[in-house]
Amino acid sequence: MIDFDTQHVLHPYAPSVPTLDMQLVTSASGVYLELQNGEKIIDGMSSWWSVIHGYNVPELNKAASEQLSKMSHVMFGGLTHEPAIKLAQTLLSITDDNLEHVFFSDSGSVSVEVALKMAFQYWNSQGNKSKTKILAFSKGYHGDTFGAMSVCDPITGMHSAFEGVLHKNIFAEAPMCMFGDEWDEKYIQDFKEKLQENNKKIAAVILEPIVQGAGGMRIYSPMLLKRVRELCSEFDVLLILDEIATGFGRTGKLFAYEYAEVSPDILCVGKALTGGYMSLAATLVSKKVMLGVETGGNVLMHGPTFMANPLACAVANASLELLLNSDWKKKVDSIETQLRTELIKCEELELVKEVRILGAIGVLELKEDVDLDWMTPEFIKHGVWLRPFNRLVYIMPPFVINKKELGTLISAIYEVVKAYSIHKQK
Ligand SMILES: *Cc1c(COP(=O)(O)O)cnc(C)c1O
Repeated sequence: MIDFDTQHVLHPYAPSVPTLDMQLVTSASGVYLELQNGEKIIDGMSSWWSVIHGYNVPELNKAASEQLSKMSHVMFGGLTHEPAIKLAQTLLSITDDNLEHVFFSDSGSVSVEVALKMAFQYWNSQGNKSKTKILAFSKGYHGDTFGAMSVCDPITGMHSAFEGVLHKNIFAEAPMCMFGDEWDEKYIQDFKEKLQENNKKIAAVILEPIVQGAGGMRIYSPMLLKRVRELCSEFDVLLILDEIATGFGRTGKLFAYEYAEVSPDILCVGKALTGGYMSLAATLVSKKVMLGVETGGNVLMHGPTFMANPLACAVANASLELLLNSDWKKKVDSIETQLRTELIKCEELELVKEVRILGAIGVLELKEDVDLDWMTPEFIKHGVWLRPFNRLVYIMPPFVINKKELGTLISAIYEVVKAYSIHKQK
């Protein structure tokens, strides 16, 4: 099995011939992944932010099998179904009142493509042909498809590999006022200048509210988001919030933008939407934007084959029910408290530059890049699954993790990072 995988199956951002042994997962339950050798390891990544309730959840299994016996899929053109309608109702009821329509798609990246299309079509339909740029932030991450890539960080993102092919957008300096820091207007200066100079060309601003994820795991001041909202309104550009990573409680608010009490024109959600069971995302949009898009008899030009897949929608409904009927806020707060008392101790380690924590997210920024090939087996030896990148070792465990399991995760990080500096000296 592993041999065939090594020779033929491609993995994310990885060489076709792997430098590191691939782990084969045979099953997963609660916060544990079971490996081929029977070993069980704690998943500190929630399978990339998505598995908030843990694995193999009876309520989600039930929702999937019940929907499976009715219909797994049906096209969404001209047809509709209860799982999608119910999910749209719930999403609109838990997000900003300004948002009135929901577009379902199959992945986060696609939901970003749809958001960008909405923004461009909004201006184009109204006869404004010059708003063809997006203003994004450095160190942002919005997905891997072409439109999404074009708004990812221009240096650490994938721009160099696609030089000359990507749409050229405008980038503001990464948020410099970190969460908890005192606000100063100088922190918005660069963004404001870029907006002032280019607003005739800019269709929309896109950013990840409060936490920049895969572009650098940076946690910034809600005041920045508040000022961005104000300036977008002042200069007449739309505001797209990408909550694909931060949505559904991860930061301690149901949606991270609630920290700044702002209202987006367009909102992207994904990742934890189905509790990590399958791929589903949504782009939520205001009435104003949809009216703009449809001016002159136009319609939004997008329609995935698997749009609003009933199976995925049914599981998403069960996942949201589970989340909203639980005391998720208390759970996330208690994870945060434990991170603030235990993970923070990593600051004393020689290789650690900074520890950052918000909600159920804990980040170690090291002073140098991580050697994944060395670190991954070490983590497994300590009974945990982590996937660091660049200088970042980070966790966002399932919300159902208990104190002891989280303790194991944190001490594994402490021990492995400590051992890493000794390894580096050799
Ligand atoms: C993961 C992510 C995406 C892309 O989602 P996919 O489902 O991987 O396509 C977009 N934006 C943010 C903020 C993300 O974290």
